[in-house]
Amino acid sequence: MAQYKYGQYLRTGDSSAYDTKHPPGSEATNAGIYRCAVCGDEIAIAKGHTLPPQNHHQHAPGLGKIEWQLLVYAQPNS
Ligand SMILES: [Zn+2]
Repeated sequence: MAQYKYGQYLRTGDSSAYDTKHPPGSEATNAGIYRCAVCGDEIAIAKGHTLPPQNHHQHAPGLGKIEWQLLVYAQPNS
């Protein structure tokens, strides 16, 4: 599970971006931390980079397909 120390630098949001589940090998549409909705594995990725493919992040047989879901949305200072 993702951790943080200084909560004043994080806030909750209700963007629909948090609800979308992305297949392995697809483009990360937002920078941040993504979590596999099935096994809980977490990765950090830059916007436009490729989410880990099937052969990089593997599930045990029977666990189900990999689904990356945005957990923490990294935003530029604006
Ligand atoms: Zn997984």
